[in-house]
Amino acid sequence: MRRHRNVKIVATLGPASSTHQMIRALFDAGADVFRLNMSHGSHDDHRARYDAIRAVEAETGRPIAILADLQGPKLRVGQFTAGAHELEEGDRFRFDLDPASGDSRRVQLPHPEIFAALVPGSDLLVNDGKIRLRVEECGPDFANCVVTVAGTISDRKGVNVPDVVLPLAALSDKDRADLEFACQLGVDWLALSFVQRAADVEEARSLARGRAAILSKIEKPAAVDAFDDILAVSDGIMVARGDLGVELPVYSVPPIQKRLVRKCRSAAKPVIVATQMLESMIESPMPTRAEVSDVANAIYEGTDAVMLSAESAAGAYPVEAVRTMDSVARSVEADSNYRAIIEASRQNKLHTVADAIVTAAREIAETTDIAAICAFSQSGRTASLVARERPRVPIIALTHVESVLRRMCLTWGTHCVITPQLSRFKEAVVNATRAAREFNFADESRQIVVIAGVPFNVPGSTNILRIAPCDERLIFASDPE
Ligand code: ATP
Ligand code: MG
Ligand code: MG
Repeated sequence: MRRHRNVKIVATLGPASSTHQMIRALFDAGADVFRLNMSHGSHDDHRARYDAIRAVEAETGRPIAILADLQGPKLRVGQFTAGAHELEEGDRFRFDLDPASGDSRRVQLPHPEIFAALVPGSDLLVNDGKIRLRVEECGPDFANCVVTVAGTISDRKGVNVPDVVLPLAALSDKDRADLEFACQLGVDWLALSFVQRAADVEEARSLARGRAAILSKIEKPAAVDAFDDILAVSDGIMVARGDLGVELPVYSVPPIQKRLVRKCRSAAKPVIVATQMLESMIESPMPTRAEVSDVANAIYEGTDAVMLSAESAAGAYPVEAVRTMDSVARSVEADSNYRAIIEASRQNKLHTVADAIVTAAREIAETTDIAAICAFSQSGRTASLVARERPRVPIIALTHVESVLRRMCLTWGTHCVITPQLSRFKEAVVNATRAAREFNFADESRQIVVIAGVPFNVPGSTNILRIAPCDERLIFASDPE
């Protein structure tokens, strides 16, 4: 099984997508990475989804990355007896600390620090800013509000208070417990919500102790300001447009998205563009033109991955949403303009031997008839460097480390393949040609580029490049070693 597209698709799992059968259908439709949102559901729910994903991995023989998204210091309402309520403009609605289920007049907001900071006239924004309420009267344990922008409020929706600065710790007790749970489960990536500074990332990294790679969600103005420092200590980035578009003017999000995607590519770290990408598909089997353009533009910008949130977690058309992203990606990547844009935005900085080798690999693939670039790595770094080049030919990323194999699934263009632990470069070449043939990237008449760091099993960077025939007899006939 191979994908016929380079950009990756991340699908959030939730009540609409928890059965083994549904997760398999999402994978078949094109999902490369599954997101478990620790803001919703119990540890048992997440464990069941985790096990189902690994079962799909086993039955398809293809690696899948699992990303656990930590809630972070996000403010959320409690639950409703009826699950949801329509709020009309002008309605009165109360937030308080009472844990009893909400109704059409009130709901719990279990954050005393908000009530302490609110004043009459403050705005409360619910569900990524879709619903707005203005505070009319408030005290240490309640706020009586009037609805200024109508919408449906439902269980555990997020709340933002943009005019008010709240003292927020990076990781709550719940986050620490969720992080440990997710690491023990064996997730490949941890996403950190509401990162504000590099130290937040370092704190999570020390708790993860190498068990998962760390992805920083950029959704606070402070994170945009400190982006270079955050990127330097993160393994990947998510442009989390939901909260970003509430915390900052919504019009500032597209330029920020473009800037962040460019910087991530330049640093050879994977970036996900997320939130409301196909929002109307929560309820409709067809996306809007504007949504299709949004997904397409993120791909033209060079993002590694595009993400589905409620569309796949709680929508009526999860499989159709993944299929839509897959079709948009294929359409964009087949456009000659896409190649032109991707190539014009390449920022080639040649500092190291590895940089020189991956650049050479791409140039060789552009000038000669090469079926694929095969990159061996123990940390995943070499494959990321090849992906930064955004080559025209497929990238086969090979490693003997299973956790690295899965992490690399988030990176643009990589077809990830596990190998035995290798000790000689010739073995690597043989493994690469076998993978190229097995997954239909090449037949025996073709050639591939193989890059690796030798000697194997000594940490160090890429230092060897070979153009190899896919016919094994020719490898043995021509190889000096
Ligand atoms: P975040 O800020 O982390 O994105 P969110 O509340 O926006 O949090 P998403 O993962 O973006 O959550 O999903 C969107 C919606 O899907 C949620 O608001 C929720 O209504 C619904 N949902 C319900 N259960 C789940 C679940 N177990 N996992 C994810 N989403 C769920
Ligand atoms: Mg968020
Ligand atoms: Mg969201």
